[in-house]
Amino acid sequence: TKAEGRNGFRFFDVSMQRLAQSRWQLEEGLHQAIHRGELELWFQPQVTKEGVMSGAEVLLRWRHPTRGLISPLEFISVAEESGQIAAIEEWVLDETMRLIKHWDSMGLPETFRHVSINISPSHFMQSGFVSQVEGALERHTVANVNIELEITENLLIENFEQAIKTMKALQAKGIAFSIDDFGTGYSSLRYLSQLPLNVLKIDRSFVAPIDHESDETPIIDVIMLMAKKLGLEVIAEGVETQAQRTLLTERGCRLYQGYFFSKPLHHEEFYTLLKQERVL
Ligand code: C2E
Ligand code: CA
Ligand code: CA
Ligand code: CA
Repeated sequence: TKAEGRNGFRFFDVSMQRLAQSRWQLEEGLHQAIHRGELELWFQPQVTKEGVMSGAEVLLRWRHPTRGLISPLEFISVAEESGQIAAIEEWVLDETMRLIKHWDSMGLPETFRHVSINISPSHFMQSGFVSQVEGALERHTVANVNIELEITENLLIENFEQAIKTMKALQAKGIAFSIDDFGTGYSSLRYLSQLPLNVLKIDRSFVAPIDHESDETPIIDVIMLMAKKLGLEVIAEGVETQAQRTLLTERGCRLYQGYFFSKPLHHEEFYTLLKQERVL
């Protein structure tokens, strides 16, 4: 039973029971969230060395009727484990492209070139994934804004053959790919060189220490070198200070994302910022 662990400890205590209960409530609530219109798209600017917003990352939020805004850190894993992630991300894909098309009809700065969307490994590996993305592209075509999918290196390495197939099929439709949280997984030059990739996203755990340590940045240096060899763009995540931005620029990084420039914004607020064409 769950009441006693292998060593006889009563680990299923009251607090764990509460945890299981709240998790179950999240799982149930998620089933309704799409239909009730509780999911929201937020956008975080991606900024060039010159301070121009060249793109944005889409970040999901759940506006829960009683709990308020819930972070994806809390519900994405629940969605993955309960098999709901594909339905949720299908909504994200469709809604993102619908929004871009709408913005395009109202006017978009020419410098705004791409939007990146996070894709969970289990969703990416599903057989219907390619046609799902194609469907969304056909419904809402926008000529000037590219869609980039963010995936993780472990997914690519663990399912190498299928991942290549999926990526090539989508690349043919104009989709670009970036590796999220780069540097935290197991990939090697040899693997990466075979994949149709466009961007490496330096994980924020390598950017965060920049302020309080010396100006040695061995991991960032290696990532910059790998990207150069592979002909890929690099974007640094979690840039919070001018010092981090300066040092990253010195290391050859030309694209940044982080609170220093802007926090993620609700899509309406984001579009207002985008229209201002303000240098960030
Ligand atoms: P991520 O893909 O690594 O996204 C970046 C996260 O870092 C976001 O958290 C963003 O708000 C946060 N961030 C951005 N700049 C800074 C900064 O300067 N400092 C700090 N401390 N944090 C910063 P958020 O929005 O809470 O999202 C958390 C994670 O949830 C994302 O991490 C991503 O893995 C996941 N996620 C969000 N939306 C989706 C989705 O549609 N599908 C999937 N599979 N995952 C998603
Ligand atoms: Ca991401
Ligand atoms: Ca990331
Ligand atoms: Ca992540």
